[in-house]
Amino acid sequence: MIRVSIGLLEKQKQELEGEEPADFLDIGTGTGMDPVSPFRYRLTAEMVSGSVLVRGEFSYDIAGICGRCLEPVTQTVSSRDLALYFDHPLVEELDISPEIREEALLELPINLLCSDDCAGLCRHCGCNLNHADCDCVDDNDDTAADDDRPDPWAALDQLKI
Ligand SMILES: [Zn+2]
Ligand SMILES: [Zn+2]
Repeated sequence: MIRVSIGLLEKQKQELEGEEPADFLDIGTGTGMDPVSPFRYRLTAEMVSGSVLVRGEFSYDIAGICGRCLEPVTQTVSSRDLALYFDHPLVEELDISPEIREEALLELPINLLCSDDCAGLCRHCGCNLNHADCDCVDDNDDTAADDDRPDPWAALDQLKI
């Protein structure tokens, strides 16, 4: 839990620095990503006319598989400009964990990639094009098939919302 004491804050700023165990983040299993490091944070909390302002940075590491080549990949998720505002909290000890967790999860990438220029898998033979070249010839059959399919966005355009 990451908490700030309102009583202390009324006197001075509070520096919050530390780590929470990896399960602090409670990342859903559906994401295919697992936190593999503690959640590291460095925050400053201050009182601004009765409300609490928390700013700072955090980082943590996640593991999953590359969305293109399916190789295992580990990536650091971080933010350096976290900013949270708590409007006139009426408690002695303010638990800011839920809000911090929410901000942390917002930084999760939609897709993990082993590198930005990962070549992925050959869609014919399945070989990993980062490590090998195959002899498959791309005859554009797939592209032609794509053109014949109805475009779902075109239907949306006609709705003229
Ligand atoms: Zn990859
Ligand atoms: Zn191939």
